Amino acid sequence: MEDINEQLAAQNLNLAIEQIEFFTIGGGRPVNRIHQQEFRWVANDERRLADGENITYLVDQSDGATTSGLTSAQTEAAIDRALDTWQGEKCLEKVDLIKRADTGADPDIFDAFFDFGGFGDPFLADIVNTGWLPRAFFEAVGGPGGGRGILAFSVTFIFTDDDDNPTDINGDNYLDSALNEVYYNDTFGDPADDRAGNPWGINVALPGIDVETVALHENGHSLELGHFGPQPAAVMNPVYAGIRHTPLASDHAGMCAVWGSWPQ
Ligand SMILES: [Zn+2]
Repeated sequence: MEDINEQLAAQNLNLAIEQIEFFTIGGGRPVNRIHQQEFRWVANDERRLADGENITYLVDQSDGATTSGLTSAQTEAAIDRALDTWQGEKCLEKVDLIKRADTGADPDIFDAFFDFGGFGDPFLADIVNTGWLPRAFFEAVGGPGGGRGILAFSVTFIFTDDDDNPTDINGDNYLDSALNEVYYNDTFGDPADDRAGNPWGINVALPGIDVETVALHENGHSLELGHFGPQPAAVMNPVYAGIRHTPLASDHAGMCAVWGSWPQ
């Protein structure tokens, strides 16, 4: 990640990667994080073309189909349900999660650093569900075994100033989130792979992997929740444990801690 941040600094984009959170099956992986300080979205932040006090999201349809046989329409609908679930949280009542249409433009940038995609437009939406990418990408990002163990991950970028220091423009003592991207691992259900027995599906029990459950977890990170647990049970537990479409007590508490005072 330090290498990537050096590349970003050289391009004068005023962006830096801050954190990657891995959602795994069969044993957790640590968070990959740069600073000790947490980050938050800033309402009305013109740098990310904010939609006022709303948070926007986009589902990239070009990589939405899975090798396990799901169509892009199926995975998009499951991701939309996950966002709807978070929208229903009491402490998000002052925030509207607005879906932006996929125009066909490349909406993501993180994959470009690993040569798994182009460097797209980072500000088409605050949160981009980028789709299903191959095992080698997850191996490259997560290290040895990552391609087999990581179901998905969420990566958050923050804004930096012209000296490459993180910013806090609203003085809330949090670094300023710039964009968030969610990547899903297409290894699961690939007949040619040793994860063939864990196919992505819709409302499927283990050993299948339920798209909505993973999307709910990942977009929880996009809304700036960290991991909890492994106990008590929560959407934000770091290891996949089967279908979970309903946030639990620590998820509610986490959302209230982040969003209760929105907008700052
Ligand atoms: Zn996670």
